[in-house]
Amino acid sequence: MRPRTLGLVAAGLALAAAGVGLVSAERVRGQLAVMQACDATDTGDFATALARTQGRVDASETGRAAAECRCLALLATGGGGECAELIARVLADPRSEGWAPRPDLAIHLIQTWREEGRATEAAELARRAARAHPGDAGLFALELSTRSSVGDEDAVLHELEERVAQREHAPVAMRVVLANRWLLRGEPSHALAALGAQAPAGPHEDLALWFETRGRGFAALGDLASVQRTYAEWRGAGGDPGELLARYALTLSIAGLKDPARPPLELIRQGAAAGERVADPRLREALAIRLILSLVSAGNRPEALAVYDRERLRFPLEGLTRAELERSQSQAQLAHATDLARRGALRFVLAEPRSGTRLRISPDSDQPVDADYASRAMPPSGELAIERSPGDAPLRWVWLDAGGSILGSGTATPRPGETRRIEIRAREPRAPERAVLSRRPGDGRRQLAVVLLDCGDWRIVQYLRARGELPVLDALVRSGTSAVLASDPPLTAAALESIVWPDRRSSASFAGIVHQFGTELAGLASIGENPFGALAWVLPEERDFFSVVGAGDLSAANLLFAHGGMQAGRHSEVTGPGGARRRVPIGASARDLDPAERARFPGLAAVRAERDRVYLRTIAAQMDTAEAIVRAREVDLFALRVEALDILTHAHFADAVQDGQDDGARLLFDVYRYLDARLGVLSSALDADDLLVVMSDHGIRTAMEHDEAALFIVTGPGIPVTRVTGAPSLRGVPRALAQLVGVETPWPDAGLAPRALATPGSARPLPVARSSSPSASLR
Ligand SMILES: [Zn+2]
Repeated sequence: MRPRTLGLVAAGLALAAAGVGLVSAERVRGQLAVMQACDATDTGDFATALARTQGRVDASETGRAAAECRCLALLATGGGGECAELIARVLADPRSEGWAPRPDLAIHLIQTWREEGRATEAAELARRAARAHPGDAGLFALELSTRSSVGDEDAVLHELEERVAQREHAPVAMRVVLANRWLLRGEPSHALAALGAQAPAGPHEDLALWFETRGRGFAALGDLASVQRTYAEWRGAGGDPGELLARYALTLSIAGLKDPARPPLELIRQGAAAGERVADPRLREALAIRLILSLVSAGNRPEALAVYDRERLRFPLEGLTRAELERSQSQAQLAHATDLARRGALRFVLAEPRSGTRLRISPDSDQPVDADYASRAMPPSGELAIERSPGDAPLRWVWLDAGGSILGSGTATPRPGETRRIEIRAREPRAPERAVLSRRPGDGRRQLAVVLLDCGDWRIVQYLRARGELPVLDALVRSGTSAVLASDPPLTAAALESIVWPDRRSSASFAGIVHQFGTELAGLASIGENPFGALAWVLPEERDFFSVVGAGDLSAANLLFAHGGMQAGRHSEVTGPGGARRRVPIGASARDLDPAERARFPGLAAVRAERDRVYLRTIAAQMDTAEAIVRAREVDLFALRVEALDILTHAHFADAVQDGQDDGARLLFDVYRYLDARLGVLSSALDADDLLVVMSDHGIRTAMEHDEAALFIVTGPGIPVTRVTGAPSLRGVPRALAQLVGVETPWPDAGLAPRALATPGSARPLPVARSSSPSASLR
């Protein structure tokens, strides 16, 4: 933090005080000392600043100026904690009412307190600071996010919108803050309203910010014509054609929208080339990432590698690594190789042999992804050699002692024709976690909760289950019916569309949608909803999943966060009973982890990158929403998609598949552990009549590519303990879900539909084949 105008502030205070007339000598001496202290802070003489402010901090004007200067000097000398306590003391004094520290200090303190889990104090300071400095857009943004974490987000948004409406020339950045929150909430029409329809009269940057956000709003609505009109207006207002092309390409790419006149890969190429002449490095990096992803999904991996090597010299390209691009390329070659049988050897060597231990090893590539880890006794020599085919995924191993405690675990990639030595070191033994899932007594009414983990991956689940770290998912698999779904193509837009529009054979958004891969990797995901207009082309006989379920006595809530090119209905809409439509209140769209969560998941509490933190907050808030819906018992069925897991997966998968002994210490694994804990709370909020489905839309193969294997686990009364044989298509999900709440449909069966569960309360078993050694694999 660079001290700026403190000297002036203090001088102003002294003059104002002098103007009063009768000023005691003692008071003047105090003011002079504070002025000198603030000057010292300005010039970096922190020792003097600390000495001169000693004992001069209080709630008077001079005392508060002393507090600010002292606080800055403390921050500069590693005394951040003392600084925070100092300001907290001044804030708590009734004489400081209406006062708040200068914006940079306030922002620092709000963020510090949020990181310490002191959300209520942070929210109170955010409210005060934003009032004291009403023109500061940074404080405005922080006030919104901080107060939303602890209070009613709708009310906070309303209050802040009123404040902007009452200002003659509110900074454009404030309107953009509001718009971005509405986009996060899946409400692009509100975002557009917050921006206003009139372009601001202001500097070029304001104009660009406004038009760019407006373009994203229309893109989230899936309204290409309005995106194009917005860009035409921007150009008319003097926008630079090169920058416009670059931002247009990025906006469409993120929303998964297609311009019929420009194939997606070509548009990204042109956008990236045009972006070269734009000063914004974040824009250039985002376009470079998109270009690499688009090249991978188009199968042009050599060029993707070439672009990566070139751009890596200029940008971090976080989430992408050369190793992942190479892995993607070798997998593609493997798929066409004739000598698939060419195996590689792995020789596990214990650094210190231990008797009675065993190694559990992930299934070979011809086995289903959810197959149990094989268990091999570790010979007394402390060495174990195995042979493996190089597959889509690296091998995972877990080393256990005689009592079943985990001693270590890791990741190893076999190389054809080679022998690799894997050295294993013992860590502190850790007992596997076990969960006992209990339900409240039934109320005679069935609720079906569907949590769709976007990019939820069976292989990651199995690895962490083998480590004994997903006790809830483990208990759900053991007490219910599970399946490895085939998601083809493995894209969220396609998967959601097949769930929400079960009659649709294929559609515009299916064909050639390769471009969708890794859409969110640039960390710029916009979340929105489809307008009714975008559904106009839907054939009249087609009915969406929620309308069918909500046509009779039941009500069904859509919390799938469809946006842009995803045609999956209207977000947060409830249909039924009798087809009536309303909106479900969704609470906060993002919230900080609370102190208990931070203590339980120190890896998540320690996350520094703001990009990651935003998505963790979104997951926390979405699981809150799911719990609130379950507790309210006002809908019979809801399906909620945790989109942020996909974004975090792409960003951290390269790290999570790196070779070596990782002992499960990876950010992505922490996210799974967090979701597992939240699913446990959700499950215990359900009652004995209810059903819980945990599923995904696809898995993950490389940081750039999804996998066809998707999760499916259902538990509840009458659900048998079994695993569905083979790899049923994800297209069978809507029929199965409808049957679970007693609604018969002619939708595709795909071997998943549990007909016998058609009547709530039924205890008849699912007519699915039990298979202890599933033979069919996905690929
Ligand atoms: Zn993805």
